[in-house]
Amino acid sequence: MVLHDFVCGTGHRFEAGLASMAAADPACPVCGAASRRRPSRLNIGGRASTGVAREQMPRSWEAVGRGDRDTVAHWHRVAADRERLEEKHPELAGDRRPVLAHEGVFASRPLRAGDDPAAVVASVKAAEAATAPARAAS
Ligand SMILES: [Zn+2]
Repeated sequence: MVLHDFVCGTGHRFEAGLASMAAADPACPVCGAASRRRPSRLNIGGRASTGVAREQMPRSWEAVGRGDRDTVAHWHRVAADRERLEEKHPELAGDRRPVLAHEGVFASRPLRAGDDPAAVVASVKAAEAATAPARAAS
């Protein structure tokens, strides 16, 4: 099952899972009118897509259809694709080191495993001084 976006003749937008690309479009769950598929947001504009970012992947039981086998399998494939993409292009992966501290002085720049705490504090102070020159001038 693959999730698609649909819009009905009245303009209701909804998401539904289809068994295959050839499956018939479902009726609108709100008004029962016929619907048509909407182009995927990721493909608009013809740019190369990097697919679904980690932040966009489902994080709850509800988001995977309460454990629906096909939905879980779908997201498993999406995540595996993302994993392969990040192996080829590590710059897309971002900083995945564990966050050790994210409050107080580290609110704007979390302290991650392997960071030198003194260097992070110094860079945060420097950034604060740069954005608040009036206060720092005294
Ligand atoms: Zn409708």
